[in-house]
Amino acid sequence: MMNGAQYVHSLKMLKPRIFYRGVRLDSPYDHPALAPHVRTAAATYDLAAGGLHDEVMTATSNLDGAKISRFTHLFWSVEDLIRKIAMLRFIGRETGTCFQRCVGLDAINALWSVTYDIDKAKGTGYHPRFREFLARLQREDLMSAGAMTDAKGDRSLAPWQQADPDLYVRIVERRPDGVVIRGAKTHITGAANSHEIFVMPTLGLPPEGADYAVACAVPIDAPGLSLVFGRQSNDERKEEAGTVDCGTEWGVVGGESTLIFENVFVPNERVFMDGEGEFAGSLVDRFSAWHRANYGGCKGGNADVLLGATALLAEIHGTIKNSIVRDKLTEIVHLVETNFAGAIGSSALGKQLPAGNWLVDPLLANTVKQNVTRFVYQVGRLTHDIAGGLLSTLPSDADFRSSEVGGLLEKYFAGKQGFSTEDKRKLCRYIEGMTSVSTLVEALHGAGSPQAQRIVMLRQADLPEKTRQARKVIGLGKETK
Ligand code: SF4
Repeated sequence: MMNGAQYVHSLKMLKPRIFYRGVRLDSPYDHPALAPHVRTAAATYDLAAGGLHDEVMTATSNLDGAKISRFTHLFWSVEDLIRKIAMLRFIGRETGTCFQRCVGLDAINALWSVTYDIDKAKGTGYHPRFREFLARLQREDLMSAGAMTDAKGDRSLAPWQQADPDLYVRIVERRPDGVVIRGAKTHITGAANSHEIFVMPTLGLPPEGADYAVACAVPIDAPGLSLVFGRQSNDERKEEAGTVDCGTEWGVVGGESTLIFENVFVPNERVFMDGEGEFAGSLVDRFSAWHRANYGGCKGGNADVLLGATALLAEIHGTIKNSIVRDKLTEIVHLVETNFAGAIGSSALGKQLPAGNWLVDPLLANTVKQNVTRFVYQVGRLTHDIAGGLLSTLPSDADFRSSEVGGLLEKYFAGKQGFSTEDKRKLCRYIEGMTSVSTLVEALHGAGSPQAQRIVMLRQADLPEKTRQARKVIGLGKETK
């Protein structure tokens, strides 16, 4: 396994085309826009390699019996599913933000299971091919990103009906030694600082959409692949390194990119689905279920830090003993633990797939994510309520350091004795960042927008069975039609 420094070094050996604010970055991993996200991903390597957290951070490979990072491990049991959630809460608490690597973890599990299903049904050879690829991923401890969401164009039209057929990633050429793909994937967490990108279809596809049914692995510096790193709320603050206003060294949310594939050649050994659109829906559903359950873990860890920061700020304000403030803190605990329980529950009720790995309970997993779309906003509102208007009006770090007004600001922003104004400002900046538009929108739309979960929830809830049960219990007699 790599440690954090080795991970960063391995990234710097690559030559990806990464753009940010109109400029191609020569040294992207040192750029202030990306560096916090690189550091957070590096923390996941350090936590695994250090040997202190083996129970959650590492696992034994089913491929060769080696000790590996849990981020490259398949879920072989309910216990593995539960340990993953425990790992996410742990790292979420250590870094206080999104650490990006879960997308690749869920992608390998989805591809492992679906390549197996395709081979069984069609006699193809995707599963051994994927197994080879995964063995390398585990051996070299590579970071992978999952690229699922397409640009989508006019959403009332199917991919092949779009005015521009490239609005969903598709195969534009099939060669004896591989395929050529074109299109774009958006909002891809952690892509810029991953070694490998798993391209996956975004929806189930009928035969006429076969060219869009493509799953494959593309190296981050593949010829023809460009990444455009997205902006975040307050991102110019990242350029104020070393100041309080810059926030923590880990940044907020995951660092998302738009990936543009301009006729990227993918050799056969990296292609895991080529035209089998009838399996694309399973790939999306399984990937989404795993990833939606995750949010009960990682957001719980982030909220642990947020709750602690809010309580500390209340202490500085002198309001921590106020019963109304304590009740609001209790409400945060309630929201966070409700969601954590859902993530653990969806893992405990997991079921084994034909390929051998285990899938979380999809109903509970989607309920977790649906709750996140509300609870993260509610938690944000409660932290804003307790922290006060200071969150949006706090003067800059430069003002606090000014020889003319800095002393006055120190005097008038003082809180409870024993705390510095710098502590107070750091707490405000953390809460501000973790309840910003970028963070909230990520909670709403990451791993699928709210309606996507509701569709699965109603499907999984088995309404016909529930109406039959209601008939039986209430004594309505049997259905007549
Ligand atoms: Fe992992 Fe959570 Fe970030 Fe998704 S939002 S990549 S589950 S840390």
